[in-house]
Amino acid sequence: MSKITQAKRIVLKVGTSTLTYENGSLNLRRFERLCKVLSGLCNEGREIILVTSGAMGVGVGKMGLSKKPEETEKRQAVAAVGQCELMFMYDKFFGEYNHIVGQVLLTRDVVEYPHSKKNTENTFEALLQMGVIPIVNENDSVAVDELVGKKFGDNDTLSATVAVLTKADLLIILTDIDGLYDANPQTNPNAKKIPVVKGVTPQVEALAGGAGSNLGTGGMATKIAAAKISTEKKIPCVVMSGGDPEDIYRLLDGKPLGTVFYEEGAAE
Ligand code: GLU
Repeated sequence: MSKITQAKRIVLKVGTSTLTYENGSLNLRRFERLCKVLSGLCNEGREIILVTSGAMGVGVGKMGLSKKPEETEKRQAVAAVGQCELMFMYDKFFGEYNHIVGQVLLTRDVVEYPHSKKNTENTFEALLQMGVIPIVNENDSVAVDELVGKKFGDNDTLSATVAVLTKADLLIILTDIDGLYDANPQTNPNAKKIPVVKGVTPQVEALAGGAGSNLGTGGMATKIAAAKISTEKKIPCVVMSGGDPEDIYRLLDGKPLGTVFYEEGAAE
């Protein structure tokens, strides 16, 4: 647990279902609480890097659409609008607590080529040194090409990549379920939450059920994939509910919340 309570540099990922309602409108109460908690953690001396989804979801809401468009170019356009709105809101809410945010939009190729990877690392370091909260998303308006490896595709993988890139002490993935269960809790009343996983084995991967919400991407499978990427680099990963952002304080105070993933054989 001390690896969690003592974590200085934390990458926190928040998904569309935590930030928005199904119609794409922002859940302002939760959004504001999240920004307040993260500002509080920065004031404690921790470094926060926020990986946010919601560009597509918020864009759908802002443009008055009933769902994500089918056509790639329209999806890219909607994400461009939503990303702008999302950053406006982060700037506003973090600004209320005297914190400055900076936007970092990534695509997979950027962190694969050594030169641009190094530049990205330098940008994160400079932002953190200057006391800025980096807010990261995939550059959805240009990243379309999953086939040729340009796109992360989901922000769980992106958040783990950022945790490794920034040599974070901890990755926290907020979602709409309070951790990994040994069966699907929506259909099986006997499903039990697994508090700690040491090593993301094929058996653990097999526990990941179906997909996520209407507006986001992902589901438990991408969270477990993210936990694998981070724990392989000895960065613990917590998958927990984003319902009450104050739970992040409780987690960092040592309360067992969500599912904590460590590398195989780790001492907690
Ligand atoms: N980058 C996407 C967005 O902002 C989210 C991807 C995901 O939900 O994992 O809408």
